[in-house]
Formats: sequence, C-alpha cells, structure tokens
Amino acid sequence: MSGAIENLFHEDRRFPPSDVMKNGANAKEELVARAAADPLAFWAGEAEKLAWRKPFTQVLDDSDAPFYRWFADGTLNVTESCLDRHLAEHGDRVAFHWEGEPGDTREISYRQLHLEVCQFANGLRSLGIGKGDTVAIYMGMVPEIVVAMLACARIGAPHSVVFGGFSSDALRERNADANSKAVITCDGAWRRGKVVPLKENVDVALEGETTVEHVIVVRRTENEVQWTDGRDHWFDELVQGQPETCEPEIMNAEDLLYILYTSGSTGKPKGIAHSQGGYLTGVSSTFRNVFDIHDDDVYWCTADCGWVTGHSYIVYGPLANCATSVIYEGSPDYPDQDRFWALVASHGVTILYTAPTAIRTFMKWGDHLPARHDLSSLRLLGSVGEPINPEAWMWYHEHIGGGKCPIVDTWWQTETGAIMITPLPGVTTLKPGSATRPYPGIDASVVDEEGNEVAPGGGGFLVVNSPWPSMLRTIHGDPERYREVYWSRFPGRYFPGDGCKLDEESYFWLLGRVDDVMLVSGHNLSTTEVESALVDHPAVAEAAVVGRSDPRTGQAIAAFVTLKGDRVGNEELLQELRSHVATKIGPIAKPASIVFTSDLPKTRSGKIMRRLLRDISEKRQLGDVTTLANSEIVEAIRDGAQTSKED
Ligand code: ATP
Ligand code: MG
Repeated sequence: MSGAIENLFHEDRRFPPSDVMKNGANAKEELVARAAADPLAFWAGEAEKLAWRKPFTQVLDDSDAPFYRWFADGTLNVTESCLDRHLAEHGDRVAFHWEGEPGDTREISYRQLHLEVCQFANGLRSLGIGKGDTVAIYMGMVPEIVVAMLACARIGAPHSVVFGGFSSDALRERNADANSKAVITCDGAWRRGKVVPLKENVDVALEGETTVEHVIVVRRTENEVQWTDGRDHWFDELVQGQPETCEPEIMNAEDLLYILYTSGSTGKPKGIAHSQGGYLTGVSSTFRNVFDIHDDDVYWCTADCGWVTGHSYIVYGPLANCATSVIYEGSPDYPDQDRFWALVASHGVTILYTAPTAIRTFMKWGDHLPARHDLSSLRLLGSVGEPINPEAWMWYHEHIGGGKCPIVDTWWQTETGAIMITPLPGVTTLKPGSATRPYPGIDASVVDEEGNEVAPGGGGFLVVNSPWPSMLRTIHGDPERYREVYWSRFPGRYFPGDGCKLDEESYFWLLGRVDDVMLVSGHNLSTTEVESALVDHPAVAEAAVVGRSDPRTGQAIAAFVTLKGDRVGNEELLQELRSHVATKIGPIAKPASIVFTSDLPKTRSGKIMRRLLRDISEKRQLGDVTTLANSEIVEAIRDGAQTSKED
C-alpha cells in the first residue's frame, strides 16, 4: 500500500460515561494523567501490584532492541499472584462458575483451584516434566484447561495451547514447532451435542516421529479411546494422592511463560512467545482498568483458552485480580440460539466480553432471542477480535446492554499480550466503531508510509512507538522473523500490520489489515469502512469486501453479504445496497459486485478471512486453509460468485 487510507465513514453518535461510572470506576482521569507524565513509573507501579519473590530494580532494559526486557532482575511465579496470595482473605471466593454444554455445572473457589493446580503440577513433575519443557494443551473448555495452564506455569513449563477445534495436522505442526514434550487433552469435547474426539486427534497427531513423551487425558465425554501404555495417563489417576501443595518454580521475569500461535487470518500462524513478569503486569493492569472489576462483579469472557483472549482475559488477568468469572463449555446455539442470554441471566453476569463475529451472528438470529431473558445484571460490555461495525455496536448496546452499558472496544493482538487501544469506562466518551485511545502507558500513533504522524482526520498505519511490558519477546525459534515482521517497516517502532485513522479528536478507528486495503482509482479504501456502510443497511447482518483486479479502476470492490433473519437477496436489494454505500460514504466505495451468502469464510476463532475471498474473486487457487473453520462455504461462494451481477 502507498499513500494514505481514505477517511470516508463519519459517525456522530456519542456516549459519555455516566456519573456512576465516572465516580466508581477503577480508572479515573488521574490515572491517565499519571501514566502520560511518566509511562515507565506507571508500569513499575502496575508491576509492583503483583507478588514478586525478588523485587525488580530495573524497569526496562532496551540495550538489545527490539529484544526488550522488562523487570528483568525480578523473580516470581505467576501462579502466586493468581492464586496463593488470594487464599488468606478470599479463599472461598468463586474463581469460576463453570457450565457444561449439557447443562452440568461446577463452582470452583480460589482455594479449590489452588489445590487442583498444585496436585496436577505435582503430577506433571512425577512424569519428569519441569522447568523449560513445553507442554501442549489441546482441550475443550472444561475447568481442567485452566488447571492445566496454571500447573504448567507453577513448574516453569511453558504451555502451548492449541485450540480444540483444530485438526490433528494443526496440532502436529504446532507440537513440532514448539518441541512439545507432553500433551494434555480430554477424551472428547462437547460441541452441539456431539463429541469432538480430542484424544483420537492427539493419537493421529503423534503418529510417526514426535517429541511428545506423555499424553494426559481428562475424562469428559466418556467416549471410548485408544490407549498407549506408558505414554498415556488418565488425569484423575495422575493427580490421585498427590500432595495438596506444590513449591512453585521461581522464574526470572523474562523467562518464557507460553507460546501461542496467532489465529491465521493473514497466513501461516506464528508462534508468539510471552514472558512472565511483563505479561502478567500488562494483563492484570488492563483487566482491572478496562473491565473495571469490582468485588461483586460476575465477569464472562466468551473466548476459548485456545486464543490469546482466553489466556489474558479468562486465565491470567482475572485471576491476578481475584475476579469471579463464568466459563461456558459449548456452542452459543445449543440447545437453542439463546443459550448465551440464558447464561447471563442465570449467573447474573455483570461484565460480558465477546467478539464482533458473535455479535453479528446474534443480530442475524434476531432480537427476540435476547429479549426473552432478563439481562439487567449487565453493566459493562466488551468487544475484541475485529473492528466492530457501528451498527453492530449499536445493536449490542441496545439489545444486550439495555442502552445503559458502556462498550469497551478493545484493540490488541496475540503479539501485544494485552489490550492496547481501548476506552476506559469511567473516563472515555464512546463513539460506536472506535476503539478510542491508547491504554495508559501505551504510546501509539497513526503514520503515513514515511513514518510521519498523520494529522487528525487522516488515515494510515497504526504503530506503537515504545515498548510495553506484555509485548511478545520473539517469534518462537525465529528471532530474525520477529525483527523483520514487526520492527523493520518503521525502524524503532512496532508495526502491528493494521490500518487506522484518526478523527478530529484524535480517536483511533481501526481499519483492518493493511494487506486488505483496496486501491480503487488511485484511492486507498479500507475494507472496514465499506463493510460498515453495508452493515448499516437494515437488511444486512455481516459483510466482507475485497479488492479484485479491474482493468478500468485498478481494483474493483467485490462484496460478500449475509442478510438478517429470513431476508432474501435479489437484484433489487443488490442495487439498494450499492446506492446505500454510495450515499453513506461516497460513490467511489460502491461495490462493483455483491454476492449474497449464508456465511463468510472464517478462521476457527471466527474472523473473516478476506484473503480467501480475494482468491475466489480472482479465480485463483486458495492460499493456506488450515485455519479455515467452514470450508463448505467457500465452495458455495465460489458457485455464487460466478452468477453475481456487475455493471
Ligand atoms: P494472523 O496474525 O495469524 O494473521 P490474527 O491477526 O487474526 O492472525 P490475532 O492475534 O488473534 O490473530 O488477532 C489480532 C488482530 O485482530 C489485530 O491485528 C486486528 O487486525 C484484529 N483486531 C483485534 N481486536 C480488534 C478491534 N477491537 N478492532 C479492530 N481490529 C481488531
Ligand atoms: Mg495478526
């Protein structure tokens, strides 16, 4: 991409913080000012809120940039901040209200969680697994996935969680890349009433050459499994009789806590490496201030532990803050499409954190589903994973939040570890579709291709100007690629790969990936803005646009649209949508073609994969599809694309 990204979409709606939020929130103006005055002192203060074994004396070591080190001479074990230190005062507090897909439930207190982590950590040690051994975790959303992650952290074994919806090939690849010594799995996982055979997938992934010596299996679905004696161990038998306490491994702040592979929207996933002290500082600080957690809150993040959102905002951030969370095992449409709202009502959820892809799906399913339930316990909503289109934001605000809950639209990445651009609910006036401003202590800007800051009203590349504690430390096994991917485009600055614009008040509006930007008649158009204009039409639930080569305009905009409820796509609606985009943001952004489709190609984390739509539009062979969740839809769209209208 060269030149600036056009700023086409205008949004006038404003939602200032309520007085209750202003007065009661954890983060107030004072915190913002303090962090701006001295970011390093702010981060040091946030780090000091954790339990250290040996306090750090140096905050940031930038002598080997971009291999930054934070709190490097401190030592700690992150599980002491997440568990041990809460026991004396809050041991009986519920850490997790867990609900299985079939409706079974478990309530796990901090004391119980500590006990289970210690026993399992001892079990792992009894197998000869310890500091520096990478352990893969390939499970469903049962409480033991949290126990497994923390038990690894307890003994200094980096975990590598692989989403349970991935295939055995994906697991095999990640095991090989991470050098995993053990795999923790389940016999199976419940998904829409059916068993996903996790153990069987593990068996296939371990065929042939492998570094894996042990497989530990949690009983969940009680399906029959194959057994390899010596290698395979039942979880319950392994923990049986283990001591109830476990001396934690004392780690250096900079030691590896985990490896996690990115979700693969843009290509082959990268193994992102996160540290101990800096990572926990970032997630614990942002969790407290962005989600405004208080003692009586019930917090629910609907992500899976297979993604970074699950790591940072189901496990480490909430536990470091002694929060009470809900975990739900299964699918949002089982047994009915209102399962989430039933869960919010029955657990009295006060804070809900989910993804735009889910919100747009709920819009498609219909307003009557949330309306069936009492959602009045909610006081704060969050969004992460993709840009949230203003209309989806408004729907979330109205139909889920009852018009009274602030929405924190949080921009961040697997690489950033923690939230980077976000509202603070007691401070920030919200604008639907904008992630608003950088988190305190984060120095981000929007620049043009030469690295000059763009003026308010302009669009370009998002960059982070200085390091932050929870940043990735490297790409596992490939430090050169780390330097190349993130630090070479704008020397000295971190480049996340996302486009962004600044409005007149210097609010940040994320515009999608820069590789997705379309060049139409000499104008750089972001996918996000055209998609938001489409979603603004009352018939549209979800839209994806891509640029495809066009002899006349360089690229032409090809749109793929999913309609709400029982609306059907026809020629009339197609023309209506084209003119809707033209009036909403300008004739230049009018899609040349529109394909109506029942769904869009998505990653297993639910993100739209525009690169596949580009391949379809240009009639090319599809690129890497290993992270694609719904391959059938690609065929359906391919057929549809051949009959679509153009002018
Ligand atoms: P890969 O890097 O393998 O292509 P990925 O980037 O989808 O996969 P993640 O780290 O899960 O993997 O996603 C981070 C990306 O998600 C961000 O770079 C951004 O493009 C998008 N994103 C996340 N949150 C938001 C948000 N609130 N607004 C806009 N975009 C967001
Ligand atoms: Mg990415």
